Amino acid sequence: MNDFEGLSYRALEAALEDAGINPVHAKPLFAAIQRRLLGADLSEAEGILPPVQRWLASGQSPKCCELEQTGYTPSADGFTEKYLLRLAEGAEVEAVRMGFPGRFTACLSSQVGCAMGCVFCATGQMGFSRHLTAGEIVAQAHHVERSLRASHGDRLRNIVMMGMGEPLHNFEPLMEALDILTDNRGLNIGPARVAVSTVGHIPGIQKLARHPKRYSLAVSLHGASDAERGALIPVNKKWPLAELVEACREYSAIKRARVFFAWTLIGGVNDSADHAHRLAALLTGMDAHVNLIPLNATEGYEGEAPAEENVREFQRIIQESGLPSTVRQRRGIDVAAGCGQLKAKRRVRAAAGP
Ligand code: SF4
Repeated sequence: MNDFEGLSYRALEAALEDAGINPVHAKPLFAAIQRRLLGADLSEAEGILPPVQRWLASGQSPKCCELEQTGYTPSADGFTEKYLLRLAEGAEVEAVRMGFPGRFTACLSSQVGCAMGCVFCATGQMGFSRHLTAGEIVAQAHHVERSLRASHGDRLRNIVMMGMGEPLHNFEPLMEALDILTDNRGLNIGPARVAVSTVGHIPGIQKLARHPKRYSLAVSLHGASDAERGALIPVNKKWPLAELVEACREYSAIKRARVFFAWTLIGGVNDSADHAHRLAALLTGMDAHVNLIPLNATEGYEGEAPAEENVREFQRIIQESGLPSTVRQRRGIDVAAGCGQLKAKRRVRAAAGP
C-alpha cells in the first residue's frame, strides 16, 4: 500500500470509498497531507470529520511516510542545504535545498543507489538497491518545504530530480509523485518548474514526451561521441548517442519544449575546443540549452576540475553556434552537493571507523 504522501487526489477518493467513507472527505484530507503537510498529526487536523478520524485510528488506512533526518549539512554561503533522510527499512537518501528567498529549489532522489554506474558519480559507485515509492519521493519535497516554512516563511518554487538515482528508470512512481507535487490542491509547483534529469534513458524520455503534463527534460551528455561518452556513462552502450539525441528531438517536438543538456567539464578529458565544436554540431537545429558544469570531484573518481580559460572558451564556442549556454556556479561545493556525495562521504567515514 502506498503511503498517504503517494496517493493522488483520485487515489485518496478511491481509498476512502473502499473503506466505506464518502469520497467527499478527500478534499480536507488531501489538503492536510499535501498542503498543510501535517504528516503523523493528520488525525488532529481541523476539518477531518469523525468517520475519517476513526479510519485513521483503525490501522486500516495508509500510513504517513516517516523520513528521519539523520544528516544535515549547510553550505558556508547559505545557498545549499543537504539533508540525509532515513527510509523505513533504514536505507538513506538525500534531498538538497538550493536557492534564495522567492526561488527555492528542492533536488530530490528517485532511487536508493543507482544502476547506471556513471564513473564520476558517488551514487553510481554504490550500485543499485531499490526504487523509491511515489510517497517517498513526495515526502522528500515535504521535508524540504517544512524546513523552508520554518526557517524563511517561504515555499518551494522548483523541483529538480537530480539526487540519487536515474529518475526515468523509476518512471511510474516518479510520474505519480510529480503529478501530486504539481496538483494545485497541494504544493502546486508549476509543471514547467519541475526538471527531470536523465543520463539518457531513452524509453523513459519517450514516455515523458507522451505524459499529459509537460515537465522539463535535462539530459547529461558529457561526451560528443559514443566512445567518449561510453567511457564516462556505461549505459551509452545500451542507449547510444545518436538515438538519444533523436529521442530528445522528438521530445522537444511533441512537447514544444526546450531540452536542457548538461556537460560536466573534466580537465583534459572533455573540455577542449574540439569537444565544444562537436557538441554544437550534435545539437544543431534543436531547441536546446547547454549547462556547463565544472567537475565537482568525488572520492573514487580521479578526474580534475577544468582550467577556467577552457571553461570560458568552451562556452564561447557553444554560444557562437547559436545555442544558449550557462556555466553552473560551483555553489554548495563545500557540502558536496553533487549527486550522492553526502552519503558517499558518510560511508567512507563509517568504513574508517570512529
Ligand atoms: S550520475 Fe545519475 S544516473 Fe549516473 S550513476 Fe549517478 S545518479 Fe546514476
